[in-house]
Amino acid sequence: MEMDAIEKSPLSIKLAKIHEILAPLWPDAVPLLHYRTCFELLCSVVLSAQCTDEQVNAVTPVLFSRFPDAESMAEADIAQIESIIRPTGFYHAKARHLSESAKLIMSRFNGQVPQTIEELVTLPGVGRKTANLVVSACFGTPGVIVDTHVMRTAIRMGICDKPDPELIEMTIRKNLPESQLTAFSHALNRHGKHVCSARKPLCLTDLQRCPVAGLCERIGVANR
Ligand code: SF4
Repeated sequence: MEMDAIEKSPLSIKLAKIHEILAPLWPDAVPLLHYRTCFELLCSVVLSAQCTDEQVNAVTPVLFSRFPDAESMAEADIAQIESIIRPTGFYHAKARHLSESAKLIMSRFNGQVPQTIEELVTLPGVGRKTANLVVSACFGTPGVIVDTHVMRTAIRMGICDKPDPELIEMTIRKNLPESQLTAFSHALNRHGKHVCSARKPLCLTDLQRCPVAGLCERIGVANR
């Protein structure tokens, strides 16, 4: 959907203002995970479920030095993958997902990470969050990456009233121009991490500490 196609609604106006404020504050609209190829990014995002980016970045250099591409990962012994990724938690399931995804990439996608969200979500362990991150970072396709920080912040701000990642993604897609989607979701992620944190959103001590306080409904936040 191009900029002209966005219908002016109270929500689209609000999102435009939030984007205008937050995007310049968090200009590093790139994944915090370390990677050199789309395959490495895909694997890193799979490993990041229920785990910090820092912890994932600590294990991936070893993982990718042994299994740098889909072909080598597909042939890897699952126990070997497990022993490397164990610190990221849920390592049995994650190792299986990496192995099965690599096999599917080899058999269905000619060894290349698929380029569309629809194809990516057919891989085990790959949901819309991962798919949006991969298409935006690797292929330049606008993505809305709804992780826990984006979801919490979107609910508090009144962007969406249900903690449903797909609904939040579609709501943002419908109300912002495509060209702003990726930067918006990265900025909302950083804002959620550093300002609108789960336990202590900065507005609890002083409204002035949140740059978008004037646009926020502060839903579920104490001291309203
Ligand atoms: S005003 Fe509070 S709840 Fe709203 S975005 Fe800012 S920190 Fe979060």
